[in-house]
Amino acid sequence: MGMIMAIDVEKMKQRLETLRTELEDSLKQLPIAQPFPDNANAEDDTVGDTEDLAVDSQEMQQEQSIKQDQEYQLSEVKAALQRIQDGTYGRCVVDGAEIPVKRLEAIPWASRCIKDEEAWEQEQLRNAPSLPQDNQGTRFS
Ligand SMILES: [Zn+2]
Repeated sequence: MGMIMAIDVEKMKQRLETLRTELEDSLKQLPIAQPFPDNANAEDDTVGDTEDLAVDSQEMQQEQSIKQDQEYQLSEVKAALQRIQDGTYGRCVVDGAEIPVKRLEAIPWASRCIKDEEAWEQEQLRNAPSLPQDNQGTRFS
C-alpha cells in the first residue's frame, strides 16, 4: 500500500470560499446587458452611431462572455464547497476515482479525474463548437 498524499480540505475550503466571494463581487460589478446603450441621438448622426453601436455591441458580448464564464465558475466553486460538506471532496463525480492532489491544488473546484475531464471537454466541444478554447478556468495544465 503506497502513501497517498492527503488533501488539506480545510485549506481548500478557505481557497474556495475566498474565490466564491471574489466571483460574487466581480459579478455584481459587471453591468447588466442592454440591447441598445446610448442610442438617444441615433437619428442625428447615422454613420458615427452605427460604428459606435458595433463597438458597444462587441464590448457587451465580451462582458456577457466574461459574465457567463464567471457564473459558471461560481457554480463549480459552490458545488465543490458542497462536496466538502458532503465529505466527497477530492473524488471524481463521475466514477468516484481519487482526483490527484496536484490537480486539486491547481483547480480547487475540480470535480472530475483527468480522464473524465477530458471526456467531458470533448463532449462540450461536440455539443458547442463555438465554445471558447481559452477558458482557463476549467483547464488543467
Ligand atoms: Zn473519473
